[in-house]
Amino acid sequence: MPDVIALASRVTQIAPSPTLAVNAKAKALKAAGADILNFSVGEPDFDTPLHICEAGKKAIDDGHTRYTAVPGIPELRKAIAARFQADHGWDYSPEQIQVCCGGKHGLYNIFQAVINPGDEVLIPAPYWVSYPPMVQLAGGVPVSVPLREEDDFDLDPDILDRYATARTRMIVINSPSNPAGCLFSGRSLEAVGRMALERGWLVVTDDIYETITYLDSRLPHILDVDPRLAEQTVVLNGVSKSFAMTGWRIGYCAGPGHVIKAMNKIQSQSTSNPCAPAQYAALAALTGPQDFPLTMRQAFLPRRDFFVEDLRSIPGVTCVNPRGAFYVFPNFSAYYGRSFQGKVIGDSVALADYFLDEAKVASVPGAAFGADAFIRFSFATSLEIIQEGMQRIKDALGRLS
Ligand code: PMP
Ligand code: GLU
Repeated sequence: MPDVIALASRVTQIAPSPTLAVNAKAKALKAAGADILNFSVGEPDFDTPLHICEAGKKAIDDGHTRYTAVPGIPELRKAIAARFQADHGWDYSPEQIQVCCGGKHGLYNIFQAVINPGDEVLIPAPYWVSYPPMVQLAGGVPVSVPLREEDDFDLDPDILDRYATARTRMIVINSPSNPAGCLFSGRSLEAVGRMALERGWLVVTDDIYETITYLDSRLPHILDVDPRLAEQTVVLNGVSKSFAMTGWRIGYCAGPGHVIKAMNKIQSQSTSNPCAPAQYAALAALTGPQDFPLTMRQAFLPRRDFFVEDLRSIPGVTCVNPRGAFYVFPNFSAYYGRSFQGKVIGDSVALADYFLDEAKVASVPGAAFGADAFIRFSFATSLEIIQEGMQRIKDALGRLS
């Protein structure tokens, strides 16, 4: 029977978030008794630190259970401004900051506030799954700019230039990146910054993984290229990854006053404000001890090292060493075209399905990130599970003919 209510065309253009979809499938299989090892979703396998939870509970006890200011409570915006100043030397006033319902929502607000129909947005690929659909939901055109594995997924300004047109309005930078954990070098950021200044692009820099790096040196940032870039850059960050607070749904943006004001208008007509007690918890996160990301990094490092080395030991598989975030993104394309029980595995979706069905390992196909040669595994899980998962993957690959 045909559906009585037709859906808006904007909805039919997009698919549900593949990372969340695989995670839901893996969890459902697990709940039904299947022995699934879940490497799909990207969230720290740590509990939110106690002092942050206590601040959230106290906020409820203190009666912070009502609407707040649309862009977030003033104390939190002040604390975010102070963090930016202390961590980067950036000068943002609280009026240039919006607190939103997770980093994802901040990105949504940015695109809604700035993109007009037909505006092109440059998105280096592999990219995080939600950028292109969010651009589409705003009426824009996502333009995928390929990054090369042999460059460690650094951005090549000459390639970027080939994808830029007169309709380009914006570029999205994500360093360290999801899904490859790659960083953009100071040199590429310098070139991108110059292009943005010359051509008047808005730069959106998604810094959600900035505290989780495996570098000894400072992470290069596009705002370090030229102070004038602050006039045309929106910084996106949040507490989800840095403080293991994915469920609290607090992100934040900083940028030019008029852009933030426009984003506030959208927020006032959509979510009103982010969850009040969660804002107090985020305040405790940003004003309390800052060593938690370091603790996570110490746990992630041996997992990353094992994962990368073991993947590289598989004939035909290559894997860039991630220098941030908590994902490995190996290239399995040497296995495409092989078959299992007469069925050909032709792409990353088929291989990820095969890993789930035959190895009981949940991963995300590279196609979801605009890079079909690859599969993403999160290493925000124990070393024992990674070791067991790798054994299963190797066994499953060995069964292909
Ligand atoms: N940006 C990137 C690159 C991400 O991987 C995520 C995933 N959580 C987000 C933004 C959004 O994070 P959240 O909404 O949980 O704050
Ligand atoms: N960013 C995480 C991931 O890529 C969480 C899921 C999502 O929001 O897409 O797995």
